[in-house]
Amino acid sequence: MNPLTLVHLYPREMNIYGDTGNVVVLRRRLEWRGLPVQVVPVSVGDRLPTAADVLLGGGGQDAAQGEIGADFASRGPTLRAMADDGVVVLAICGTYQMLGHEFVTVDGERIEGVGVLDVVTRGERERLIGNNAVDTADTLGAGRLVGYENHSGMTTLGPAAAPLGRTSTGRGNNGRDGTEGAVRGNVIGTYLHGPVLAKSPRFADELLRRALARRGEPVDLAPLDDTLPELAARVAVGRPR
Ligand code: GLN
Repeated sequence: MNPLTLVHLYPREMNIYGDTGNVVVLRRRLEWRGLPVQVVPVSVGDRLPTAADVLLGGGGQDAAQGEIGADFASRGPTLRAMADDGVVVLAICGTYQMLGHEFVTVDGERIEGVGVLDVVTRGERERLIGNNAVDTADTLGAGRLVGYENHSGMTTLGPAAAPLGRTSTGRGNNGRDGTEGAVRGNVIGTYLHGPVLAKSPRFADELLRRALARRGEPVDLAPLDDTLPELAARVAVGRPR
């Protein structure tokens, strides 16, 4: 079997609150099952391997998003083609915002998005901060996702975007409509840091299952001992915001 290729977008600029951990979790969950995997970092100016099975991008400060903005926008046609082709994408916070149409920061700077997700984001003075849990029973069927949000960008979903889930404990996309994240096919955007996959093992396996199925190599993923990630999720959810 060819290794599953995980492409890590902008590992230096877009990595706050441990988001690189999502790449580590996917890699380790494959290795623990004896499945081959390779991780390809892609930074400004690097070629994006179109043979990617999973694309992962983390959160970043507004300034970091500005730094990579032009490079990210120039990849729009490639990213849209990959999304249409069913590549699995996990975009956290800043990368989620940039997969939308645009992000206008609180200072009025417009960072162009690539329009993979039908969402727009506006920076506001208030920040939404704290642990958060999202129920995906009706969307991904991947259980409860647990993570940590910290953003001042408020995201609104357009008609072509479905929410990743609903949040009751946290603030989610905008603190107003109870939605968290967005999904389109295998593209998933969310505000959950932490890293989210370390506290949401069912979700991690759902991403792997989708990536393997897309290659026509559906594999029964052997169960792993998830006692620790599940404990970490319970502790995070039990903490006051
Ligand atoms: N700069 C963006 C915001 O505050 C994203 C922050 C993040 O990735 N945590 O909305």
